[in-house]
Amino acid sequence: MSYMDKSIEELHELLVSGKVTSDELVKESLEKSHEVQEKCNAFVTILDDAKGGEVTDNLLSGIPYGVKDNYSTKGILSTGSSNTLKDYVPFFDATAVVHLNEAGAIKVNKTALDEFGMGGTGTTAHTGVQRNPWDTRRMCSGSSSGSAAAVASGVYPYATGSDTGDSIRKPAAYCGIVGYKPTYGMISRYGLFPYASSLDHLGVLTRNVRDAAIVVDTMKGIDKNDMTSWDSKDVHLLEACTGNIKGKKLCYIKEIVDRDKFKNCGKELKEHLDNYYNVIEKCKKMGFTVDEVSVDQVLLNALPSVYNIISYAEVTSNLSNLTGIIFGPRGEGDNYIDMMKDHRTKGFSPLIKRRFVIGSYVLQKENQERYFRNAQRVRRLLVDRWKEIFKDYDAVILPVASGPAKFLDTSKNVQEENTTLLEEHLQIGNFGGFPSITIPSGFVSDLPVAINITGNCYDDENVLNIAYAIEKELGYANQIAKEVKHD
Ligand code: GLN
Repeated sequence: MSYMDKSIEELHELLVSGKVTSDELVKESLEKSHEVQEKCNAFVTILDDAKGGEVTDNLLSGIPYGVKDNYSTKGILSTGSSNTLKDYVPFFDATAVVHLNEAGAIKVNKTALDEFGMGGTGTTAHTGVQRNPWDTRRMCSGSSSGSAAAVASGVYPYATGSDTGDSIRKPAAYCGIVGYKPTYGMISRYGLFPYASSLDHLGVLTRNVRDAAIVVDTMKGIDKNDMTSWDSKDVHLLEACTGNIKGKKLCYIKEIVDRDKFKNCGKELKEHLDNYYNVIEKCKKMGFTVDEVSVDQVLLNALPSVYNIISYAEVTSNLSNLTGIIFGPRGEGDNYIDMMKDHRTKGFSPLIKRRFVIGSYVLQKENQERYFRNAQRVRRLLVDRWKEIFKDYDAVILPVASGPAKFLDTSKNVQEENTTLLEEHLQIGNFGGFPSITIPSGFVSDLPVAINITGNCYDDENVLNIAYAIEKELGYANQIAKEVKHD
């Protein structure tokens, strides 16, 4: 009998009625972890000594889960998937992990990510590439690559993630599961290795919307260690998932999904768009109002550059503490400058070093106004435009990415035109701190694809309820990856 493919609510029921014990769940989860490690290379650490725990009336008690390796875990190796922290064992838990501990949740592994959350491919972890469980020739996307591979493979019902540009929501899409990042500051960032502080969100990857609600209900809360966290004790995400969508209004952004832009596109992108527009039709049939909204193309075109400038600047500053002096392996050299240089030269992958170069450049006094400050201004314009949209609509609904998971061997991927915004629009959710959730919407080339629903800040209950209603209608909840036949 296999249990780890079940939902949190089902597992809780089984535990409470004594049909299974927490020890049995942990054992199964650890066995599956090793299988998935073989197949997908999803983990930095598997906690083979993990034991079952007490079952209480808390829905998460006694149930195994995974922690992304950029979350600080007390006494457990926490690397951020970087050589610069390959031996780092923190002496404290991230606040979100403290909350999960208090709920009686059982961590069974630490999941691999793109080094410190940077890059969207799941290929830059110091422990190697993560492979997509639906087709191991393909990417999981990143940065929460290990969490996505594990949840989609049925290692456990959920794993934590972090999302600075799309790092929960895109891997969830590529792996056929749910990825939710709540409003900025709803979950404390304390103990999350920072990437770009003004964009960093914690969140979760699950196989259905209700599970995402349960986990974030537990992870959230105001924290004196994160001054951007806020009091969400009146937010009850699970209770909000009623499926009642009477009077709800959705919209999509013409400039991102307009079919005219993709007239000459290939089969996969066409099918991806067909899948998306089918979802829109279904939403209308369900009773949603769905309108097309227009956003200034010039403003939208600035999105990737604005994201890059702000995130590279912030990460350059945030990771300047990685010197090998305070933590991480010591670099070689006769003096501390040489030791730091050696540590950082050997420790970081080329992708990160490139970002540091650009980040330093845009922060230089003579460039700051032109690049960094202007990027912040354009970020504000985009957020203001989205906030205007949220005056009229409950949420924006858009497809995730431009198709299913890409090949790891990038020469095999078809290069389509005009797909930048399809690939990058989720970053707006980070600019504004908006609650944003990805749910599976079907298949293209036998691989999962997804839609995203993003709403206004502090409107998480509404966003999750809408996602829950659409999930029920589409019928792709609780998917476990089935390997697609290789040709
Ligand atoms: N792909 C984006 C980046 O590389 C987003 C990553 C993230 O959300 N952490 O920055």
